[in-house]
Amino acid sequence: MKLSEYVKQIKANASTAEGAEKAAKVRRLLVGGGRAIGALGIIGGFTCFVLFATAGFAAFGPNGFTARVIVPFVLFVPMFFVAGLGFSLARLGQTIVVGGEITPTAQSSPTKATAYNTTTKNCPYCGNKLHPDDKACEKCGAPIE
Ligand SMILES: [Zn+2]
Repeated sequence: MKLSEYVKQIKANASTAEGAEKAAKVRRLLVGGGRAIGALGIIGGFTCFVLFATAGFAAFGPNGFTARVIVPFVLFVPMFFVAGLGFSLARLGQTIVVGGEITPTAQSSPTKATAYNTTTKNCPYCGNKLHPDDKACEKCGAPIE
């Protein structure tokens, strides 16, 4: 199975309790592992550059193109592919959202609606706060139309 399809499946199941646990685990693995691979690629690429820069001058000397020159030269570009692969794995992991983050927004709207309904009417005689279905004022007894 392709990794992107596997992640899609993980996201689809993330709303269940069991799925959320697995989604959190996969997210940690992808983000943590991806960043580690990305960092290794960058360090590797930088090391290749330094090795080649220092050994490169020696290639024009009597020893010619030795392994000390050729190996870092050949590995320089692949190291950046490794770094790119690592960081794209980390990005893929970050797209997995583990439940609980949407709840506050969903809770706020019913609370607002309830507060609006209970504060709409006051008694025209004494100003007492009325419930929407009151037939008479609780405080002064005036009939409410
Ligand atoms: Zn009243």
